[in-house]
Order: sequence, then C-alpha cells, then structure tokens
Amino acid sequence: MSDKRDLALAAVQSFGPGTLGHYINGRVSPALGTPFDILEPGTGETLGQCSDATQDQVEEAVAAARDAFPKWAAKSGEERRKVLNRAADLITANADRIAAVECIDAGQCWRFMSKAAIRGAENFRFFADRAPSAADGQALPSADHLNYTSRKPIGPVAVITPWNTPFMLSTWKIAPALAAGCTVVHKPAEWSPYSARLLVEIAHEAGLPAGVFNSVNGLGETTGKRLTEHPSIKAVAFVGESSTGSAIMRQGSETLKRVHFELGGKNPVIVFDDADLDSALDAAIFMIYSLNGQRCTSSSRLLVQSTIYDSFVAKLAERVKNLKVGDPFDPATEVGPLIHPRHFAKVARYAEIARQEGATIAAGGAPFEGAKGFFYPPTLFTNAEQSMRIAQEEIFGPVLTAIPFTDEADAVSKANDVQYGLAGYLWTSDVGRALRVSEALDVGMVWVNSENVRHLPAPFGGTKASGIGRDGGDWSFDFYMETKNIALARGTHKVPRLGV
Ligand code: NAD
Repeated sequence: MSDKRDLALAAVQSFGPGTLGHYINGRVSPALGTPFDILEPGTGETLGQCSDATQDQVEEAVAAARDAFPKWAAKSGEERRKVLNRAADLITANADRIAAVECIDAGQCWRFMSKAAIRGAENFRFFADRAPSAADGQALPSADHLNYTSRKPIGPVAVITPWNTPFMLSTWKIAPALAAGCTVVHKPAEWSPYSARLLVEIAHEAGLPAGVFNSVNGLGETTGKRLTEHPSIKAVAFVGESSTGSAIMRQGSETLKRVHFELGGKNPVIVFDDADLDSALDAAIFMIYSLNGQRCTSSSRLLVQSTIYDSFVAKLAERVKNLKVGDPFDPATEVGPLIHPRHFAKVARYAEIARQEGATIAAGGAPFEGAKGFFYPPTLFTNAEQSMRIAQEEIFGPVLTAIPFTDEADAVSKANDVQYGLAGYLWTSDVGRALRVSEALDVGMVWVNSENVRHLPAPFGGTKASGIGRDGGDWSFDFYMETKNIALARGTHKVPRLGV
C-alpha cells in the first residue's frame, strides 16, 4: 500500500516544488496566481497548491493552440494516428503512476483506478485508429448534382473536466479532439489537477508538437470563464454539473461557441420481480457505491417492484453495511473518501433531509467519528417517495434512494419524473418488457440486465438536464469537426436566366 502512495507522492513531487504550474506551448509555465490548497481526500492533509492561470497565461495558452492549429490540422490522419498511439503506449507504461495519482488526489480506490488508467489508453488508441478516416464524408447524389461531404477540424477547443475520475474523463474528451485535428486547451478541476499534468507530459513525450495540447489550472469562475469567453476558442467540451453547463452556455454565447455537455444524473435502476435478482443486486450496489458514488452514471435511484421490495431491500441493506470503506490505496477497499470537505458537507446534509422528509435510513447516514480524511459511510434511504429531494436531486456520493413501484407504467413514470436523463438500468427476464421500457425511458443510455459497460463506438450522453450531444465513435468527431457539402453539377440541369 505505502509503495503505491510513495509512487503517487513521487509523481506529484516530479512536477517541482511550490505551486503547480501550467503547461503552455510545450513547456511548464510557472504558477503566478494566488495559491490555494489541494487536499488529499484520504488523509485530509494538504497535498500541494494550485493557482489560477493569469489572464496573460490564458491568452498565451489560447494563442499557442491557435498558432499550432493550421499545422496540426494539415497533418495526415496517419501521422496523427502514430503520435496518439504512442501516447496510448506511454499511458499504459505509466498506468500504475497514473492510478496512484488518482488515488492520492481524487481519493478514488486503487481497485478501480488501475483499470481506469488502462481505459484512458484505450480511449487514445480507439480515436487514434480512426484519425485517418475522420475527415471522410458521404456521397449524396441527386439527379443533377453529385453532393458529397467532407469534414474539417473546427479549430482550437477548450476541454473542461470535473474531479471525479479526472484522468479517464480527460482522455475521453481530449483524444478525439486531437485525432480530429483540433488543438486543445484543457482546464482540469481545481480539486484534483495532478493527473492532467501527467497526461499533458505524456502526450508531449509521445511527440505531440508544442501548442497542440495545453493545460491551464484554476477555478471555473476565473480560468474556466476566460477560456469559454475567448473568441479564438471555437468549441467547448464540458463535463460537470448541469448548472455549470448553463453558465458556460451563457459565457460562450457572445462568441457563438459550439458546446458539448456531459452533465449530472439521477439514474434509475429498475428491478422487476421476474429479474435475475442476485445479479440485479450486485449491479445496483456496484453502480452506486463504486467510485465512492462520485459517478455521473451511478444508479442513484433504485426502483423495485413492490412484490419483492421488502426482501430485496433487506438483502441490499446487509450488503451496504458490509462494504469495505478505507484507504484508497488498499486493493481491498471498496469505498474511499469523498473529494473535499465542501462536497462532504453537501453529501452529509442529505441524511438530515431524508429524516425530515420521512424516509428510512436503512444503512449509514452518520459520518464516522474521528476519521481523518473525508470518508462518508455507504448510505441507503428506503421507503422514499418520488417527490422527495432524496429522490430528485443528484447527491454524487455513496448514497442510494430506494422507491417501490407497482407495475411497468408506474416504473416508467417514476423513472422519468426527474430533471435528469443520463442513463437507465433495467432488470427483467421479459424481453418484450425490456424493449418497451427501454423505449419509454427518457434517457440517453439504457443498460438491460447489465451494469454500465462502455463500448467505445457506441454513443454516450444524456437528455434533459443531463447533457447536450453525444460522445463515442463518430459522434465525437461530429462535435470536433465542421461538415462541408460540395455540390458538383453533372451539366444536365438548366441554370435559371434572369434579366435576359
Ligand atoms: P463542476 O461543474 O463544478 O466543475 C466541472 C469543471 O467546470 C471544473 O473544472 C470547474 O472548474 C469548471 N467550471 C466551474 N464553473 C465554471 C465556469 N463558470 N466556467 C467554466 N468552467 C467552470 O462539476 P464537478 O463538481 O467538478 O463534477 C461533478 C459533476 O460532474 C456532477 O454533476 C456529475 O454528474 C458531473 N459529471 C458528468 C459526467 C457525464 O459524463 N455526464 C461525467 C462525470 C461527471
């Protein structure tokens, strides 16, 4: 365990003493803004400092991306493929280091982060291999013209990411942007900025030219705002809270930015009484308590058919009480700490809200006494009603709200009765019902008899307050590229003649 923590500390120290700098135009740019602390969630102690990029540093980063764009966009897809595949190889070679940094900086558990780092490499490899065909379009012939389309990278883009699984999420947005031929200014979340530095360093070691990928630190309201308002930034790919998405849309409206939003969720897992209940139980637990509950696609609402509600929820409560909470570096740990005291306070408040609303706290609900670090016990609210805040609001912690339903119509109505529409999980052995309910759920993604298993060519994203646009496969390229239509006359049509 301590060797993994030592690995993490060595990585953090490798970025140099003092406040974490930025990475602009292929080199480190020193921190000049007022420093603020980065905390280690597992110990509650200060891990280091970070600061806002100054206005000049944001200008410099955007100018570097703007100047590097024509050359990077003009490279052949094959050349981009090679560099990005080298980056994928280096991510794999550094997977332990990356995972260790995620554990120390984001409080995520080793058992999940060792795989998440590898997924980061897979994201790079997947989009790298598609770089040569990214510009390809369609042939759309009409009687008198051959219409054909092609795509070009949109320009320098901003990528703004949250703190929950920072490395994997950043690769998911940055790899397709680079593969498409865009240049990037990345702003990672201020509570967990270290793995973003690893990523930008790895990309340069792989041979990415200076200016193609820049990384600036700082708060959303300052550094993030400057980036999203900058006229040279052509699009903003954002992952974070729904309310931040609204702010970014406002900030980018003056300069007509294209936006892609992956936002919050209050995702239902619906368990019918004909389902494989053992697997449904495993999946429901995994999808809310893994990643410390800080997961956009977490199944944070459990809708269980009333015929099996009591027995299912009783088994669930036993398992929740049995989850291993502790040191994120311990491979046996299942639930680690929350990211920050402010987030801890938000999550902890919901136990009070649940009591006031009249729900039952069947597990957890009270902070550990005397714990160092921001550990919150896995919590289960039962006998909840649809109208309660614990059933409506994204808590983003290891907290599950269980609600009974009577039949298919009731399940669909409750599942859809929230402002969010990211993912839905459905457990039933009736194929017809699986099809009907999947169609009826107002969400961007449905998993039937499964937990969240990602397939990179498939679209990822949400409806309603959960997002705008889709990632994955060609959807990512559609966002980062402009489509052009070219109509070539066959010489068979008559051009209208005026003023003859
Ligand atoms: P957040 O919205 O507070 O912050 C996300 C990023 O936006 C950070 O880098 C932050 O500094 C920046 N930011 C904040 N205000 C800004 C502004 N005005 N202008 C520009 N940038 C700004 O989100 P968070 O608390 O870091 O992350 C948790 C949220 O992210 C949850 O709601 C979760 O559901 C969501 N999330 C969604 C997905 C998805 O794929 N749908 C994935 C992971 C997380």
